[in-house]
Amino acid sequence: MAATPETVRKLSALGAKLVVESGAGKGAGISDDDFQAAGAAIASADAAAGAQIVLGVQGPDPALLGGAAPGAWIVAGLDPFGQRARVDAYAAVGLEALAMEFMPRITRAQSMDILSSQANLSGYKAVLVAANLYGRAFPMMMTAAGTVSAAKAFIMGVGVAGLQAIATARRLGAQVSATDVRSATKEQIQSLGAKPIFVENVAGIEGEGAGGYATEMSSEYQKAQAELVSSHIAKQDIVITTALIPGRAAPRLISDAQIATMRPGSVIYDLAVAQGGNVEGSVADQVVERHGVKIVGYANTPALLPADASALFSRNLFNFLSAFWDKEQGRPVLDEEIGNAIRLTQGGQVVHERLKG
Ligand code: NAD
Repeated sequence: MAATPETVRKLSALGAKLVVESGAGKGAGISDDDFQAAGAAIASADAAAGAQIVLGVQGPDPALLGGAAPGAWIVAGLDPFGQRARVDAYAAVGLEALAMEFMPRITRAQSMDILSSQANLSGYKAVLVAANLYGRAFPMMMTAAGTVSAAKAFIMGVGVAGLQAIATARRLGAQVSATDVRSATKEQIQSLGAKPIFVENVAGIEGEGAGGYATEMSSEYQKAQAELVSSHIAKQDIVITTALIPGRAAPRLISDAQIATMRPGSVIYDLAVAQGGNVEGSVADQVVERHGVKIVGYANTPALLPADASALFSRNLFNFLSAFWDKEQGRPVLDEEIGNAIRLTQGGQVVHERLKG
């Protein structure tokens, strides 16, 4: 959900008039009555009629936006590369599409960052889902009937989701190791009590690019990484993969041959499945079994925690709108740094550098 009663109240206090699509909050346990009590009107059809700003989790179907005001903002996770045709359609009808996932990683925008708020929940939930599908316990248990050994969990990609996955697996009692291409993560892994598994002594090893994101690695690095992963993964019970490279398909980290070396009953959770997948054979929104190993591929993991996902996402949108709210105009006005970073379309054109050419 892109709004909750809490953010409806706060946006109303700024002077906005809110209209919520009937039934929109159902999945997050929020009723139309809750929204109405917070001050929103409920629309059963044509919710965007007259709107100057349309808030969504994902980009709304352009066909539903015919009644929006000229130049209205579409503020959502727009998946600009995956949903390019939709972006073009927004431009064609003169809407101003603002992709919240392009929010720059700068201090003042941290509270507006939907990728971070959702990735944190994904990392947590991926471990819980994997633990549920695993036919054994996570912690070591010494019982009168004998000892249960601790599960070994390996986290690949230590950004926001990976850090939360490490912390969650540790809390459940697993023995945790983790890897990333950015060497800065080594210390973070250790500080969470997990073991770093890193490719060493390969040219071009520093995988950190603009904005703290990963870059695509050299073929020499990829080969060294595959060898390292092969020897490590055969001993793992749980693997959570989170590796992404902005604007590109997710890097392939685990091959079918590597899965075949794992113990049957092990579980892999591919958090990058929607971006092409880190794991060979992972399928969006399915749990598939290969060589006795379960591969989980839920494309929208935050949606498995709908109430928290909605609360955090809608606060990100509120923080964004309120930071730029212009009292005189009664609506937000963007500054250049953030405007240029997130604006995809304006004045009938696709204007974002990364989408042009
Ligand atoms: P992401 O979701 O883009 O990628 C997940 C992780 O996968 C990253 O750590 C990346 O380095 C790693 N990865 C990519 N290719 C890999 C490969 N081949 N093998 C192994 N790992 C690979 O990352 P993210 O969670 O968005 O975080 C990226 C960076 O941005 C981090 O440094 C994070 O701390 C930082 N960050 C800053 C802010 C802010 O300042 N506002 C907010 C969020 C994140």
